[in-house]
Amino acid sequence: MTAPDALRAAPDTRFATKQVQAGYVSGVGQNTAVPPLYQSAAYEFSSLAEARDLFALRRAGNIYSRNASPTQQLLEERVAVLEGGVSAVAVASGQAAVAVTILALAGRGGHVVAADRLYGGTVDLLQDTLDDFGITVTFVDQDDPAAWRAAATARTRLFFAESVANPLAQVLDIRTVADIAHEAGVPLVIDSTVGTPYLIRPGEHGADFVVHSATKYLGGHGTSLGGVAVDLGSFDFGADPARWPQFTVPAARFGPQSLWERFGRGFAFATLVKAKYVHDLGPSLSPFNAHQILQGIETLDLRVARQSASAQAIAEALTGNPAVAAVHHPGLAGNPWHDLATRYLPRGVPAVFSIDLASSGDAAEDQQRVERFVDGLKVVRLVANIGDARSLVSHPASMTHSHLNDEQRAAAGIGETTIRLSIGIEDPADILADLEQALALARVRQTLAAV
Ligand SMILES: *Cc1c(COP(=O)(O)O)cnc(C)c1O
Repeated sequence: MTAPDALRAAPDTRFATKQVQAGYVSGVGQNTAVPPLYQSAAYEFSSLAEARDLFALRRAGNIYSRNASPTQQLLEERVAVLEGGVSAVAVASGQAAVAVTILALAGRGGHVVAADRLYGGTVDLLQDTLDDFGITVTFVDQDDPAAWRAAATARTRLFFAESVANPLAQVLDIRTVADIAHEAGVPLVIDSTVGTPYLIRPGEHGADFVVHSATKYLGGHGTSLGGVAVDLGSFDFGADPARWPQFTVPAARFGPQSLWERFGRGFAFATLVKAKYVHDLGPSLSPFNAHQILQGIETLDLRVARQSASAQAIAEALTGNPAVAAVHHPGLAGNPWHDLATRYLPRGVPAVFSIDLASSGDAAEDQQRVERFVDGLKVVRLVANIGDARSLVSHPASMTHSHLNDEQRAAAGIGETTIRLSIGIEDPADILADLEQALALARVRQTLAAV
């Protein structure tokens, strides 16, 4: 499930060293300096006795790549190390990472208390697909501790939120929500896709599990889907065994011992996810994508530091622009989440944030204004993605949030003129100049139209 401790290369090093070295020891295989891409669907056993041991989970090893592949295992090890966790599971997408994590924790008929500002795919999963299977959800105002507390019931099995949400970049008070989850006897799961392990490690603030869409900042180049779920090793399923039968009661398929007895804290979760949910449902990560994501992680801090600094400078510059009504960036003084950003994100605020274009008061004209702005961009590309090396723009009301009605969109703080930006690694002066020329273009046309 995870590499033995002997393979934890570079244990006493800093973040930037770990992101290039953790988990890989040259001298295995063909002595390649760079982790190899093992593109193999299955693995050869040296004997039938060995095959028997592997199938019975009596020893760890490779069987078939739906369950695990060596390249994927290195990715798991590296992300676990970067998050300060114990073990991790890498799967085909961020969506899959969220799904298998909730399935494994919620169990049969479980209840989830979730923040009301979540990635749309997570909302669909919780209120539609998981609901079909009897797992229910209560969405709460993520900034209201009393709401979290009030929503927990005897059936609740996890709290779920994002460290930094999008498109409006709300910052979660992780410590407060973690404390309430633990009072309720359940773990806090944090989707830290936008946060990245470079800017924030939720485990340091009380979270128990972290999930990532590796498609975004971890991969960092917009090439490959992937997802990772990390067990930070903090949650004790043995403290209330009756509540967690999936870990504490032996299951026929896993032999006479429970997963908790056999694998224990920090490992039982990854074992259940891999040996049951990924095995049965099949959302496996391709070795090729694992390799791409590993390559991306080697430059994570360089990219994210540049992107965050550029986004901060761009947010400050746009604040004074007459074509912009609001800049939703928690690095700005006066933003409602500025204090939380100062506390939780000392290295910088993520580079995904939004602006509202100034409204004309007329819906049709506003829509045209948005179109002139978006279609006028030359450096910043219109793409429904974030965390890419390229700067990207999207229009939530037309794209990610188009299935919401006006009321739901307003409740989410998203208007017709809200524009999401994901700042890339290009020269920040070029990105800002591009945004400014597109803003001016929209304004000039609007002035002409008014004449
Ligand atoms: C993109 C995203 C996901 C889903 O990840 P995929 O890799 O697209 O499946 C989940 N959570 C957040 C915050 C995301 O941005």
